[in-house]
Amino acid sequence: MDRRDFLRTGAFVFGSMAASAPVMAAFRRAIGSGNLSDASIQALSDSLNGSLILQTSTDFSSAVKVYNSRFNDMRPMAIARCADAADAATCMEWCIAHDIHFVARAGGHSYCGWSTCEGLVIDVGPLQDMEYDPSTGIATFGAGVQLVDVYHYLSGFGRAIAAGTCPSVGLTGLLLGGGQGMLTRGHGMTSDLLVSADVILYDGSTVHSVVCSDASEHELFWALRGGGGGNFGLVTKLRVQTFPLAGEVAYGAMRWDWSVAKDILDYWMGMGATLDPAVSMNLLLSPAAPTVSNSEPVIYMVAASTKPDDSQQTELRSMLSGLANHVPASKLLSYTTDRKYWVDLALTYSGCSHFSNPYEDCHFPSDQWPNGQLVQKAFKSKSDYYTEAIPQEGFDKIDEWLRLRHQNPSMNQQRASLHLDLIGDASVVNQVAPDETAFVHRDTICCAQYIAYWSAGDDCSLVNENLDWVRGFYEAMRPWASDQSYQNYIDDDLTDWAQRYYGSNLPKLRQIKSKYDPQNVFYFPQSIQPLDDGGRS
Ligand SMILES: Cc1cc2nc3c(=O)[nH]c(=O)nc-3n(C[C@H](O)[C@H](O)[C@H](O)COP(=O)(O)OP(=O)(O)OC[C@H]3O[C@@H](n4cnc5c(N)ncnc54)[C@H](O)[C@@H]3O)c2cc1C
Repeated sequence: MDRRDFLRTGAFVFGSMAASAPVMAAFRRAIGSGNLSDASIQALSDSLNGSLILQTSTDFSSAVKVYNSRFNDMRPMAIARCADAADAATCMEWCIAHDIHFVARAGGHSYCGWSTCEGLVIDVGPLQDMEYDPSTGIATFGAGVQLVDVYHYLSGFGRAIAAGTCPSVGLTGLLLGGGQGMLTRGHGMTSDLLVSADVILYDGSTVHSVVCSDASEHELFWALRGGGGGNFGLVTKLRVQTFPLAGEVAYGAMRWDWSVAKDILDYWMGMGATLDPAVSMNLLLSPAAPTVSNSEPVIYMVAASTKPDDSQQTELRSMLSGLANHVPASKLLSYTTDRKYWVDLALTYSGCSHFSNPYEDCHFPSDQWPNGQLVQKAFKSKSDYYTEAIPQEGFDKIDEWLRLRHQNPSMNQQRASLHLDLIGDASVVNQVAPDETAFVHRDTICCAQYIAYWSAGDDCSLVNENLDWVRGFYEAMRPWASDQSYQNYIDDDLTDWAQRYYGSNLPKLRQIKSKYDPQNVFYFPQSIQPLDDGGRS
């Protein structure tokens, strides 16, 4: 598709408003751009099939929100709600012509709020098409789909993909940075399932669209599988290989007394090397709840076996029994197992099963999802991969930092944890060579996330205490963690982020960036730099 295909003339029904003169003046003030004329803003608005939401629009306050309320102060000059891929291309052309920064937004869940900016947010959220081809098992998704919709849609065909647990995360942002969840050990990262993608690029002279796959634009295809959102081009469509997952799956949960936490952690970290990849196991280590006088931290595990036949149910139970028997019976405080359809289990894990109409309610309220019940959260997270077992000294640090939080009751009002996702050499993730796709982390035992939440209205000192707690915990674990971080748990504190996210794949990613975004129009504080960065850094 070339430039002309995107530039449409004539009368269009657009958005919520025709931009008035004062609105345009506000718009120009907002971006501090003197070279924007009223006519050019109006031209952008007129040329969209979707809507251009300006700061003065009544829709702005809801359209501007991203998941993490830490970034509520960011005020983009406008948000373009794209009705189709051509809208996204029109926006890119317009921004490039006027030298205005833009970022793409899909689900809005970037940990660092990097799908918002002071310029134009190109929001592909309305691109919600989903189509499943039973002859190939490939599903095609518009770039705006959210995980809950993907799981629900595919379950109708008895199919699934491996992706994350949070329902409102965008498939696009998640897949571009890897994507992991309860089906990952058995099926790989979400990015490993990508078959092809439609991407809008700027080659320095024209905005144009390509389809990338193994057979065409294969370098771009390589980079999109783990190279991180917002780096190379604007994705409008994803084709993903699904797999069968019908019937019920087995799942279980266990909680132990903290006195055996180190034994459980050791045993659990060792399991990934041989554990059937159909089984996933996540460990949660948290401070004691503020209401509990006992200050002992909590250790909790959730597991699922996604092979739906009875032998696997039995296997999961015997595997959990093995874990249970590893420590004295008196130290196992709770142990439950049950069966559910995968999509129901996914709803449970995402915290949406209590909604009366979960597939409608499990979204943020918007024009698309007027009954959405989800609300923003304020949080800070940092991530590590562990490639070696954590020794006693490392465990002592975990113990110390979880207790520290419990000692500060105002900080401990909101959740915080060390969250560990088991990977291990028996997983499909580690069967893939680190340079086969841009997702380099293929030698790990588990992915770790240090995370703390607070309330949106909390005062600065409490917010800072939370930030200090996450950062301090992470720093304390340096001697035992690897030098890798998960690019989807993107972290604005990191100075060596490029190496930590991309490791040995970084040089190739920079070459591909130079080829596909030579002018570096796709940039944000942690975007991959082209070899010649177009003068932007
Ligand atoms: C509550 C929560 C739970 C999470 N759970 C998991 C999990 O279980 N597993 C996991 O792997 N990750 C998880 N994540 C991390 C998640 O994968 C990343 O935050 C991901 O980037 C979010 O994608 P998004 O589309 O929602 O976000 P966005 O903020 O919209 O986008 C993220 C990045 O991708 C870019 N981008 C967006 N759309 C496009 C596009 N169309 N083309 C090109 N670039 C684009 C953005 O500019 C931004 O840089 C979670 C995040 C949150 C907040």
